[in-house]
Amino acid sequence: MEEPRGRKKPPRHLADLDEAGRKELLEASGLPGFRAKQLSVHYFTRLTSDPAEMTDLPASQREELAATLLPPLLTPVRTLEADKGTTRKTLWRLFDNALVESVLMRYPDRATICVSSQAGCGMACPFCATGQGGLQRNMSTAEIVDQVVDGARAMARGEVAGGPGRLSNVVFMGMGEPLANYKAVIGAVRRLTDPSPAGLGLSARGVTVSTVGLVPRIRQLTEEGVPVTLALSLHAPDDELRNELVPINTRFSVAETVEAAWQYAATTKRRVSIEYAMMRGINDQAWRADLLGDVLRSYGDWGWVHVNLIPLNPTPGSKWTASDPADEREFVRRLEAKGIPTTVRDTRGREIDGACGQLAAAED
Ligand code: SAH
Repeated sequence: MEEPRGRKKPPRHLADLDEAGRKELLEASGLPGFRAKQLSVHYFTRLTSDPAEMTDLPASQREELAATLLPPLLTPVRTLEADKGTTRKTLWRLFDNALVESVLMRYPDRATICVSSQAGCGMACPFCATGQGGLQRNMSTAEIVDQVVDGARAMARGEVAGGPGRLSNVVFMGMGEPLANYKAVIGAVRRLTDPSPAGLGLSARGVTVSTVGLVPRIRQLTEEGVPVTLALSLHAPDDELRNELVPINTRFSVAETVEAAWQYAATTKRRVSIEYAMMRGINDQAWRADLLGDVLRSYGDWGWVHVNLIPLNPTPGSKWTASDPADEREFVRRLEAKGIPTTVRDTRGREIDGACGQLAAAED
C-alpha cells in the first residue's frame, strides 16, 4: 500500500547514525558490518558517495554497500554563482520533491555554508521569503549533513573560485527554524563535529545555530553540551514591534527570550549573536537602538553578546525596505556607545536571491 504523500521518511543514510548504528544497518541488510568504517571514510574524509571511487571495497559489493548506507538524498536542480564565483547557491530537490537551498560563501580566511534545516518554515516572519510559504516538513539529520558534505567537497575539489580549500564554518541560517527540528539538528551538529571518520571533524565553534527564540529549546541547547554559537533573531527590542516581526514573540516575550540567550552565554561561555535586520522606518530608530542597548546591557557587560545588523533584503511583495545608511550608522554608534560590540553583516549573493531571508526556492 502506498503511504500518504509527504508522510514517507527520507532514505536512511550513514549520517543519520552513529558508528554502531551504521554497522547494525549493514548487518541487518546481510552485509559485513566492518565495511561501515570504510564507507564512513569515503563519505566524511574522501567526501565521496560514488561507488566507482570505492576501490578498497570488493567490486561485487560496492553498489549494494553504497546503496545501503549512502543513498542519494539531495539532487541538484540549479546552481547559481555570484561575487566572482566565491558565492554559490544550490537549489536541491529532496526524495519527496520538496525543495531546499544552501549557500556556500568563500572569504579570504574561511569558507561558510548556510544550510536549511526544514523544507519551508512555520514561523511566519512577514519579512522573510521562506516564512511566506509555511512549513512543508522537517529535514532528516543526513539531509542536513549532506548539504555540508557537498560544500566541503566543492571546496576540496577547487570548484569554488580561489583554488582548493577547506570548509570551516556552518550556519543554520538557510530555510527553516532549526530549533523547531531540534533532534535532527542536534544529530547534524554531532555528525559535523565528530572527529573523522565518525563525522566531518569541524570545530563546534565554527557552527552557528540561529533561532527565532524558542525559549524551551534554547534552554535544552544550553544543557546539551555542544558548544555551538547561538544566534538569536531579535529584530526589535520591544514586544509591541517584535510581536509583528517575529510572531512567536506572542508566546515568548523579548525579556524571556533575551534571558534564555544570556543564560546560554553564561553557561557555555560562548558569546551570543543578536541578529537584527534593519528595516527602514520600522525598527531602525535611534530610540530603539538605545532601548536595544539597555535591554542587552541589563544582563551585564562582560562581553556576553554582540549585535549583527543585517541590511534587510527586500523580498517580493514586501512593504519593507533596507534602512538609510545614515540611520544604520547612527544605530551602530548608539549601540557602541552603550558598550555593545556591533557589526554590519555583508550581504553576499543578493543578485542570486541567495542572501539572508531570500531563500524561497520558488521553482516551477
Ligand atoms: N529561523 C532561523 C534561521 C533562518 S533565517 C532564524 O530566524 O534565526 C537567518 C536570519 O535571516 C534570521 O535572523 C532571519 O530573521 C534573517 N532574515 C530573514 N529574512 C530576511 C530578510 N529579508 N532580510 C534580512 N534578513 C532576513
